[in-house]
Amino acid sequence: MSHHPVVVIGSGPAGLTAAIYTARANLSPLVIEGEPSSTSDQPGGQLMLTTEVENFPGFPEGIDGPELMTRMRQQAARFGAEFVTEKVTAVDFSERPFRIWVREREYSADAVIVSTGAQSLMLGLEAESRLLGHGLSTCATCDGFFFRGQEIAVVGGGDSAIEEATFLTKFATKVHLLVRRDVLRASKVMQDRAQANDKIEIHWHTVVDDLLGSDRLEGAVVRNVVSGEVSTMPVTGLFVAIGHRPNTDLFKGVLDMDDNGYLVTRSGSSYTNVEGVFACGDVQDHTYRQAITAAGSGCVAAIDCERWLESVGH
Ligand code: NDP
Repeated sequence: MSHHPVVVIGSGPAGLTAAIYTARANLSPLVIEGEPSSTSDQPGGQLMLTTEVENFPGFPEGIDGPELMTRMRQQAARFGAEFVTEKVTAVDFSERPFRIWVREREYSADAVIVSTGAQSLMLGLEAESRLLGHGLSTCATCDGFFFRGQEIAVVGGGDSAIEEATFLTKFATKVHLLVRRDVLRASKVMQDRAQANDKIEIHWHTVVDDLLGSDRLEGAVVRNVVSGEVSTMPVTGLFVAIGHRPNTDLFKGVLDMDDNGYLVTRSGSSYTNVEGVFACGDVQDHTYRQAITAAGSGCVAAIDCERWLESVGH
């Protein structure tokens, strides 16, 4: 078993920023960074699935998501952060030092920073992995700007879908909102907003069966589930906004969560209900979900952690 003052679980912008800060505070963090996914050769969270990032300050020409994550990782390593490229399989936060397992291997820590992120729910189409970041997106705030003057679609009928569709009308000539039932789940005020917007056309009972284009989205094959009619929508952008799932299975019954499974942190801080365990990034944020807000909250967690360790005499 190896002991570390701080173990960071997760390696998106939140986890890596927490690692940079705790490493520079001489806390020798161990980052258990997760595993490469089917579409990326290293862990690093949702930015590994994107192409160009134009809204992260400091990169006036933009930077590819994977490169941004590689640089953050290098920055953390430069100050002494160590990495384990595997997933945590179990935790015991019932007493200190905390215990963390990666399969049969055990680590212990005086403090833990949880930054396991969240995943966008996807439609489950084979074409999604090919076209994600190439016309297919899960974040209007991040990618809307790339679709100026184009005709695009948003899938979903909840608050996220309406919010994204409304935001996208700033750029697109037309936004098709594809709703699988004949009702919107979104709140009344959001529904009114969508219905009052001339650029949004709502297609009821409509699902996406396939996406066209080999290296760039060229259209969506949609089906009316009532009439059975299949047609091709010539959209160059498609935003999937059917919800998110925070990666919190490991912490069920251990850390406080809200009804949707997001970790609950004490207002304005990264403190969880377990003293010495901190949370940052999308795993505790269902509102902003940006790389820069995740990075900011990673900094908050590192400072909270450092001060807490000092207060308990470590
Ligand atoms: P929701 O779970 O509220 O809505 C998901 C939507 O996607 C539903 O319309 C659902 O349809 C649809 N959907 C789910 N799976 C599929 C699929 N496979 N194919 C097609 N459609 C699908 O998620 P949201 O992300 O919209 O919202 C999550 C939470 O965040 C909510 O509590 C929401 O109120 C809140 N939120 C609030 C905002 C605000 O107030 N400004 C902004 C954004 C989110 P169906 O209804 O048929 O299940």
